[in-house]
Amino acid sequence: MAVDFYSTLGVARTATADEIKKAYRKLAIQYHPDRNPGDKEAEKKFKELSQAYEVLSDEKKRAQYDQFGSDFFTGSSARQGGNPFGNGNPFGGGQYQWSGNFSDPRDIFSQVFGNMGGGMGGGQSDIFEQLFGGGRSGHCRRSQGSKGSDLTTNIEITFHEAVHGTDKKLRLSKFDICSNCAGRGCANCSSTGRVKVSKEIKVHIPQGVNNGSRLRIAREGEAGTMGAAPGDLYVVISVLPDDLFRREENDLICEVPIDLATSVNGGIVEVPTLEGTTKMKIPAGTRNGTSLRLRGKGVPALKGGGKGDLFVRILVEVPANLNKQQKDLLKYFTDSLTEGNMPEMAAFAFKMKERASKEEGK
Ligand SMILES: [Zn+2]
Repeated sequence: MAVDFYSTLGVARTATADEIKKAYRKLAIQYHPDRNPGDKEAEKKFKELSQAYEVLSDEKKRAQYDQFGSDFFTGSSARQGGNPFGNGNPFGGGQYQWSGNFSDPRDIFSQVFGNMGGGMGGGQSDIFEQLFGGGRSGHCRRSQGSKGSDLTTNIEITFHEAVHGTDKKLRLSKFDICSNCAGRGCANCSSTGRVKVSKEIKVHIPQGVNNGSRLRIAREGEAGTMGAAPGDLYVVISVLPDDLFRREENDLICEVPIDLATSVNGGIVEVPTLEGTTKMKIPAGTRNGTSLRLRGKGVPALKGGGKGDLFVRILVEVPANLNKQQKDLLKYFTDSLTEGNMPEMAAFAFKMKERASKEEGK
């Protein structure tokens, strides 16, 4: 009995090569044995599709088929053996046998889908998404494979890398899709479709991350088995302390020591910022512990929305290790001070005196 290759692929006899290819792709994915494990009907249909496609995709074979029908491809040559589908009629009816001229359906399948690479951007993995329902087109459920697990790894970065953002390379030991079978399962991977590899992964660390921030890198966890969707990778950031800045949320705190004269008279000091140094005005009479704010000189917010502030915390340094002359000069200066120069000392002395007179009055 003759077989109609055109109706097998569901195309018209006038179909173009492109239409034939498209029809085959769609049906081959639908009936692929990996997607229909143990389904004999699907397996049979998959073989029929491959054979129809093999003939109709070849200009010469298609012309022969159009002229002589499917018997041209079966008939006597079938008895020459070498039938890749076994000796019996794979289609159960006993009407005809395929000759050994037909290729393995899986080979046809990978030829067709292998050609999709390059131009389509990683065609192979797109096929497996279609076949096995990975991430994007998750409506196709796969009965065999199981989703890969998530991975967590730690990375140490400097304070400046955290503030400005950086790109890092990580080396991970993890399960990846077996390249020998592209996830379908083979001897190399004990039929799991995945193998342990050491893989380098580029991680973009956005500006503004903080100690303990956790980045999710989609689909970089363990590969699933049998082409199932991979897990995600989580990168936990630890930020090394900086020797000038302390961070509170998106604000920065920097302690800047100044001398007595600047504290009293005011002046200009140089302070560090994330983008180099800047000159800052210290008002006359600035006390120890005063915080001066530089707006917008803090850390950029991780999710946008501006920057924090930089707080310069003034430390008035008490001079140490003075020599005799310095000590004398300081004493000379201090002795010259009046109550008006030192109102707090004067107020304190007054309170002490009052307390003493109350004690006497009892
Ligand atoms: Zn494999």
